Amino acid sequence: MNPETLYMMKKSRLNKEWHLAHPMPEHPTLDQRLEWHLEHAKHCSCREMPPRLREELVKRKLLQK
Ligand SMILES: [Zn+2]
Repeated sequence: MNPETLYMMKKSRLNKEWHLAHPMPEHPTLDQRLEWHLEHAKHCSCREMPPRLREELVKRKLLQK
C-alpha cells in the first residue's frame, strides 16, 4: 500500500457526522470529557484519547487497559 492511500484511509476515519452531532461542551467538566471521549472512541478515530483521560477511564473501570 502506498503512503498516499494510507493517508487517505487515515483521513476517512474522521466521522464528521458524529462530530457534528456531538460537539464538545464549551466548558466541559471532567465527567463530560470522559463521556465524550468514550463515545468518540467508539464512533471515530480521528484522534487519540489524551493519556490522562484514558487513565481516568481505566481507573473508573469504563475502559480496559
Ligand atoms: Zn473524531
